[in-house]
Amino acid sequence: MIKEKAKLIDLIARFIAMTAKILPDDVSEKLKELKNRETVPLAKAVYDSMFENQEKALKLNRPSCQDTGVVNFFIRAGASFPYLGALNEVLTEAVRKATVIAPLRHNTVAIFEEKNDGTNVGERAPFINWEIVQDRDDIELYSYMAGGGCSLPGRAITLMPSAGYEGIVKYVFDMMVDWGINACPPLLVGIGIAGSADVASVLSKWALLRPIGSRNPNPKGAEMEKLLEEGLNKIGVGPQGLSGSSSVMGVHIETAARHPSTISVGINVGCWSHRKGCIRIKRDFSYEIISHKGVSL
Ligand code: SF4
Repeated sequence: MIKEKAKLIDLIARFIAMTAKILPDDVSEKLKELKNRETVPLAKAVYDSMFENQEKALKLNRPSCQDTGVVNFFIRAGASFPYLGALNEVLTEAVRKATVIAPLRHNTVAIFEEKNDGTNVGERAPFINWEIVQDRDDIELYSYMAGGGCSLPGRAITLMPSAGYEGIVKYVFDMMVDWGINACPPLLVGIGIAGSADVASVLSKWALLRPIGSRNPNPKGAEMEKLLEEGLNKIGVGPQGLSGSSSVMGVHIETAARHPSTISVGINVGCWSHRKGCIRIKRDFSYEIISHKGVSL
């Protein structure tokens, strides 16, 4: 078991290190699309600098942005995956190792002590959110580097049910107008709608992990995503907040049934350097990187 654990730690550490440097396929494609669609010269130049940044990150083996965030994991874990019980420790050690090999910036600060021990590991860090899936023996592991700028617009609120979906739209627009610029647009906006702020907030992070362009399975949810995307683009924030035709890469909504007396909304955003990744690992440690096609570790 010790040998297997070490193998898994090594694999996941190399995966995290890779995601710090190479943007996922959907983000790269979307940035290309927005650049080609852009008409404002300054905004076009900003997109050019983003692509130059990516080329240099690869060439110099450096992170895409200096802020490599606090690592979050979201896992769909097969109930029969043989190393399920070891995963907590494996993921923690993988972050510790990735911090050295990537390298990742030292971001994890202990609450109250206000100390940063330079490992990116600490109390409930990495943060891990699980979904256990029956009749499967593999894991689908999503990683997300929650940077400071892109965590700043994160909000959740519980509204009176009479506020309705209009109340959600107003809240999203207010937050994006006030705080979106801190997160290095164009943004991927993740929204959770549920009956309490904690559930809505976690769902808004799951929403950030969906492939850009995918739609909520409920046609009304899909329509709301489309309308919010069109509306937020009209704000004119543009890449890096310097004005332009597009403010967002997309809007994704995830939902959970709510209490009749409450309607809660959670918001989280991914920045232009949205460092998320998805890897499927089988019980024999063979793997497929879903988010970055053609990349090997
Ligand atoms: S918002 Fe994103 S690109 Fe901007 S500093 Fe933070 S991690 Fe880097």
